[in-house]
Amino acid sequence: MKRYAVMLFSILFAASLLLCVGSVKVQAVTLKNPSIVTLLDDDDEEYSVTTWDCVYLGHYYQSNNNSKDQIKWRVLSVNGNDAFLLADQCLDCKPYNDTDSGATWSECSLRSWLNSTFYNAAFNSSEKGAIKSSTVINNVGENTKDWIYLLSNEEVETAAYGFPDGHDFDQFRQAKASAYAKSLGARTYVYEDDRYYSSYKSMLYAQMKEGNGEWWLRTTGRDMNNYTDSCRIMHVGDDGFVSYGMSTDNINDKQTSVRPCLHIDLSSNAWSPAGTVSSDWSFTCANHTWDKGVETKAATCKEAGTKEFTCSICGMKKTETIPKLTSHTYTEWITTKAATTSATGTKERTCTVCGEKQTEIIPKLTKKEDTKKTTAKATKITAKNKFYKVKKKTKSYTVTLKSGKTPVMGVKITLKVNGKTYTAKTNKKGQATFKIKNLKKKGKYTATITFAGNKSYKKSTKKVKITVKK
Ligand SMILES: [Zn+2]
Ligand SMILES: [Zn+2]
Repeated sequence: MKRYAVMLFSILFAASLLLCVGSVKVQAVTLKNPSIVTLLDDDDEEYSVTTWDCVYLGHYYQSNNNSKDQIKWRVLSVNGNDAFLLADQCLDCKPYNDTDSGATWSECSLRSWLNSTFYNAAFNSSEKGAIKSSTVINNVGENTKDWIYLLSNEEVETAAYGFPDGHDFDQFRQAKASAYAKSLGARTYVYEDDRYYSSYKSMLYAQMKEGNGEWWLRTTGRDMNNYTDSCRIMHVGDDGFVSYGMSTDNINDKQTSVRPCLHIDLSSNAWSPAGTVSSDWSFTCANHTWDKGVETKAATCKEAGTKEFTCSICGMKKTETIPKLTSHTYTEWITTKAATTSATGTKERTCTVCGEKQTEIIPKLTKKEDTKKTTAKATKITAKNKFYKVKKKTKSYTVTLKSGKTPVMGVKITLKVNGKTYTAKTNKKGQATFKIKNLKKKGKYTATITFAGNKSYKKSTKKVKITVKK
């Protein structure tokens, strides 16, 4: 059943957005004529569901005998400022006439009770001001002018009022008897078995177990083909069937319920909106009581999320959008251009969810922060003390420059000895070979070998003894 309700709601919402025909806007609320939608039951059989807009007007005993509750009315039709209303449930339990003797609508005791006792008990003066005097056409006897009256057999079979299926049993005409009406003896039935096999009919009877009332129509019943027997009054059964009252005289039946109808002037402020009621017993509130909501889709920085709220009274759902997150999930910063002491650099990071790129400027480095020093690795010169013979004119001397175990290649090394500086470049083994030519005399010399350092490698020096012998 649930999925039909969901379907129905969506159809109704679409309809309420699109349809403005036959509606009137008062008190910032637009009341609509009944809507009828056709759905499929679990056996793929078509069935219709009517939804009536509802209003509150007046108060009457319903849930108990001591205090009055707001009376909910179904809107059968809207025509300009006129609304034709039928009580949502059976409000009382009274015979059509106090005696067994035949009576037309104009003569019966129920009509005078409705227009005096009930009228005064249920409505205050401003509510009475909203109730219009209706000219009521009757099949037998005089037409009447009534504040409150009952539907006729024709009105209760009028599709425009939300009763599309003729006089046959159906949900459209079914109405609960209030607890108060039951306490006065209103007849309701309990069905233990499903008398129909289709899902819709099963559903219908399942709902009837909850205590639908039988309710009077104002129409005088018929004796075979003639509406002449004023001891037989038409009524609607608890299953929604319109009974012609052919079997017995029922005018004084004390267990039939009263489901009043009336016309009101919508320009009055006495009424208030009461949501909707559908023939499948679903309903919506005028003002929903939304729960805290459930996140149905989490918001990210890429997409908005959604949250679904459910009304704790009528079960209606609504979805709200959760705005996109403004915070991102970034990678680490990556330097796209290194800063130097003379120019700023740039860095960039990317959101792993939405791909958004963020770029920032890296400020110029101060001298101390210069990458030449901060990123340079330590170096070490390996050079040995060495002997040469004095007669050797060119003394070849090799040193090695390494950073840890890694040779440092292609860098300039200097060797200063005896007042002269030689330079040589390291090869791929980190070796630099000097051709020393200024040591022509015997003696002990101290040579200073220096690597000046660069942006990658730190400076290092080493002193060695070079001895020149005979
Ligand atoms: Zn609600
Ligand atoms: Zn993002």
